[in-house]
Amino acid sequence: MDWVVVGLDNGGTANNATVLTADGRFLVDRLVELPSMVREGPVVAVDALAEAYINILAVTGVAPEAVRAVGLDTPGPAGATGIISAKGSTNFAHPDWRGFDIRGALEDRLGIPVVYNNDGNAAALYAHHVHFGAEADRWSSVSAIVGTGLGGGVVESGEVVRGAAGMAGELGHVHIPTHDLLEPDQPVPECNCGFAGDAESVASLTGIEKNLLPYWLTRYPDHELNAVPTMRDGAKLVRSYAERGDEMALRIFGQQARALGRLFTIAANFTDPAAYFLGGGVVETTPELRAWFLAEVRENTLLRAEQAATATLALVPELDMAGARGAAIAARTLVGATLR
Ligand SMILES: [Zn+2]
Repeated sequence: MDWVVVGLDNGGTANNATVLTADGRFLVDRLVELPSMVREGPVVAVDALAEAYINILAVTGVAPEAVRAVGLDTPGPAGATGIISAKGSTNFAHPDWRGFDIRGALEDRLGIPVVYNNDGNAAALYAHHVHFGAEADRWSSVSAIVGTGLGGGVVESGEVVRGAAGMAGELGHVHIPTHDLLEPDQPVPECNCGFAGDAESVASLTGIEKNLLPYWLTRYPDHELNAVPTMRDGAKLVRSYAERGDEMALRIFGQQARALGRLFTIAANFTDPAAYFLGGGVVETTPELRAWFLAEVRENTLLRAEQAATATLALVPELDMAGARGAAIAARTLVGATLR
């Protein structure tokens, strides 16, 4: 065997690992997870990442000498070089995480170059490479992944656009036009980042909890979700109501689809990508709801005729594995560039 790279996807509860060969094959086609221990702080968590690394080599029968680089991804917020935000964050609540260099710590621990991406960027990179295959470095794409927040990334010529401060591709915090999106008496949605009316304030689980559900329940005073103890509990149930055709739930998802369409319209005029990828809870649903949602997003993505003739809207594939796989692709690109 030629050289390989390892991809490690660090999450709130588990680390998923994969191995990618020099010629672009993944050696596992499933999740290979171990506990991430991130709540215990960085010392324990870096040990856990090293364990996930050793484990995936054992599972795939790869010799340690064959590994040229490791790709690591974590939830944000973190800088382009893998320094966890000094402000702290949901996933890295332990105080020792503040300003911690997780990339550098893992590199020291393993003695191998480690390439860092946030999880949205890693998933965007994976979606791009799956869609374009051998032609990945000729094309560009934008990915939006709807979860607790709105993550994703911008890929240009096969590589993640990072920006000067590592903050490119923060699609969730792009302001979107709210006229004809909000009802006349609906308050402008607010985001955890401090902005009002950005994409995440509508198109995320947090957006449903903080903004959309509280408003729509006032419009549907007899709706069953008025009886749920907290908005958080209610927000998590909206999708199952939408799957059963509930009118209020569909109006909430309709607003999310319009927000995503407007975000993609901004992308169309900004970088004019060849593909728009959509992932997360809004599309991990019944085929009927997914088809309706995609059609709504497409209808609200205003492309010029020349763009509509070439661009595609597609799903982020295998989202649960996309982080580790995208992280590995970034590591393989680094090794390839070093060899050239
Ligand atoms: Zn925001």
